[in-house]
Amino acid sequence: MKATDSHEKRSGFENINCPICHSKKQTDLFKVPDRFKLQDGDTFQLVSCEQCELVFLNPRPKPDTISQFYQNVEYQPFLSTQKKLSIFEQLYTLIRTFANKNKLRKILKLKPPGRILDIGCGTGEFLNVMKLNGWETFGVEKDSSAVEFAKSAYNLNVKTGELAEAGFEKKGFDVISMWHVLEHVYQPCDELSRIKSLLKDDGLLLIAVPNIASPDAGFYKNNWIALDTPRHLTHFTEKNMADLCSRNGFQVVGAGQLIQDAFFNCLMSEKIVLDKSKKSKVFFLIFAFRALYISLKTIYLSSRFSKKYTGSSTLYLIEPVNH
Ligand SMILES: [Zn+2]
Repeated sequence: MKATDSHEKRSGFENINCPICHSKKQTDLFKVPDRFKLQDGDTFQLVSCEQCELVFLNPRPKPDTISQFYQNVEYQPFLSTQKKLSIFEQLYTLIRTFANKNKLRKILKLKPPGRILDIGCGTGEFLNVMKLNGWETFGVEKDSSAVEFAKSAYNLNVKTGELAEAGFEKKGFDVISMWHVLEHVYQPCDELSRIKSLLKDDGLLLIAVPNIASPDAGFYKNNWIALDTPRHLTHFTEKNMADLCSRNGFQVVGAGQLIQDAFFNCLMSEKIVLDKSKKSKVFFLIFAFRALYISLKTIYLSSRFSKKYTGSSTLYLIEPVNH
């Protein structure tokens, strides 16, 4: 395995140390194409930190060049702003509605209604569910069109841009959430320490991220959709999340799977396999059955009956450590 030091310099990209433990020592894992540009033949290197085992993209697009990788016509993170939805997208939207209600139920088990901040809130469907159930809701989102939608459709209090510039009140939130956002963040340690300053001392932090240690990630390898290079910069396991938290004044108090993500990740990974194989779309039915099998296996192995894994995606429940 070659050391990362030997990577050629790539224009618009930066070579980095481990974003959590800052070690320079890394081992190359594998190269992954952009799933929207499979024909290009261009690939992006994932590495593993030799000290803390964190998997991350290196080199990675510099913050001022990453936007070009979000501009693909097929990359549609905000379905709410689209006028026409495919059947698959309609199904996804329906599942998202159930998922948001499930998130509310999970939070209510731990916290009565109070003030919640959702970082990377997108078009605001989750915050809207919270608001309708008596929560005082705040959001921050980089995509200005998503913010406009959240404001006009749900009358939500959402700021445009990064958390660092949002100017929220210190120690002002009972709950802070990040649903599939941390894997896009350039400096996860800085973000966690910012969150620490905003969360009440008895507050709750919820972080959901893809789980690179999951059975489906192991099965699909460099075809696993949630690698999503070069948009996903960092891939967390339970150990990595515990490290990140303990370095920034938090502790993980619970971790569990997001069931719907297993189906989504397996089905979308099969689509990458199919696209790469250039087989007829008829084959997708066969691939879909395999996706169902792998997702059900992942869900079972991550359930309370097995507890071997924490899902295709993991929701971490995190609390501040106060001295
Ligand atoms: Zn490290």
